[in-house]
Amino acid sequence: MSPHWRKPLVTIATVSAIGALLWLVAGPATAFGAAAIILGIQLAQHQYNLSLFRVWLLDPQLETIPVGSGVWEQLFSRLLRMHKRQAQTEARLQEALTRFLKAGAALPEAVVILDQEHRLEWCNPKAFAYFGLDENRDRGHQVTNLVRQPQFVHYLESGDYSAPLTLRITTTAGSEVTLSVHIVPYGDHEKLLLGRDITRWEKMETMRRDFVANVSHELRTPLTVLTGFLETLTEMPETDPEMLQRSLRLMSQQSVRMSHLVEDLLTLSRLESTSAPVREEDVSVADLAHQLHQDALILSNGRHEIGLTLESREGLRGSREELRSAFGNLISNAIRYTPEGGHVDIVWRLADGHPEFSVRDTGLGIEAHHIDRLTERFYRVDRSRSRETGGTGLGLAIVKHVLSHHQAHLEVESTLGKGSVFRAVFPAERRVTVESDEPFEQTES
Ligand code: ADP
Repeated sequence: MSPHWRKPLVTIATVSAIGALLWLVAGPATAFGAAAIILGIQLAQHQYNLSLFRVWLLDPQLETIPVGSGVWEQLFSRLLRMHKRQAQTEARLQEALTRFLKAGAALPEAVVILDQEHRLEWCNPKAFAYFGLDENRDRGHQVTNLVRQPQFVHYLESGDYSAPLTLRITTTAGSEVTLSVHIVPYGDHEKLLLGRDITRWEKMETMRRDFVANVSHELRTPLTVLTGFLETLTEMPETDPEMLQRSLRLMSQQSVRMSHLVEDLLTLSRLESTSAPVREEDVSVADLAHQLHQDALILSNGRHEIGLTLESREGLRGSREELRSAFGNLISNAIRYTPEGGHVDIVWRLADGHPEFSVRDTGLGIEAHHIDRLTERFYRVDRSRSRETGGTGLGLAIVKHVLSHHQAHLEVESTLGKGSVFRAVFPAERRVTVESDEPFEQTES
């Protein structure tokens, strides 16, 4: 027997038993009457609960589920439990959906979901920034009517999404951006359209290509000279000793130039591989400046007046080798771009608490529009002068990297025909007190 029948049968059996008992005691009329009253009460109770249920179904809210009576009480309490479970599941799903939408909105890439017919189903705010797509306004519209660039339309319709498409666009904010657009088919012929901003990467790629081209160009000139001389010397059976000496001197100059270039390239690549000095120590700038002053005197070979002024005893926390390279480059530039008889002054001081290493010269000077670009690799104001004096075009790029490793910056002031001053300004936190072998506050030439 089905368990569902048990309860009704028990009720009928109980009513029948009461009826039979009354029949025996009080006769059939009383028995039937009592049974009819009991069944009537039961029926009324069911009718009442059914009507409660019907009213509730018109607006089924968790809070208004009726309490019910008799068997209905159990039924309503089960309904309440079911409803609560369902509400919890719904809340969890809603929360997951909200989290997903928030994550989608926070994505740095444009994400667009397209249906089988390439109609927009969903998109995130970046899709608005890049393609002007608005989820609420454009849902259900063909994406090719909204993003009309022919390359994009062709890419979407080609069906070949093995490689991304590079697209140049103007964002809704008005800036020019290069996008890498990728389409990922998924599910039931649906598509995910992704757009990533690759402007920076593209710029770096261009810089890398320019850099390789520049290096090749820089090496080609000395190599051409060397090959030319070697060919001439090989082809001439008897070489005039004077001419041989001259050729060898020129060849040696070119190989020195190449090795300087390679040295500077290696220094630059070492500097670029980290964002901080490899080894930090307390550097006595006074000692360093004295050594650099000696090197400057040798480089100038008596052609300039070179002064050294140490106004501060403080040293710097940083990399001795990197600082030597940066300060050395500033000094050698001042000498190389200052004609004979000019002055070069090296000064170490504290300016408003900031350590400052400066090199002032009375040389050629630089026109204002060049100044912002001086620290670019291979940027030269005067190409022939730079080469004549053994410049590699990398000196100030090295300076810039060293200074950025030390959170310092370069200030340049220059007047064409009068001279320049290059200042390396360090943050006050880099100041350290150091022992120095050199006397303080002196000027020498
Ligand atoms: P280079 O090896 O050519 O000197 P740098 O990177 O050291 O390369 O300098 C870049 C350019 O800046 C130089 O080619 C030169 O034109 C200019 N420059 C640098 N220092 C000075 C200076 N003290 N006076 C005039 N011009 C300078």
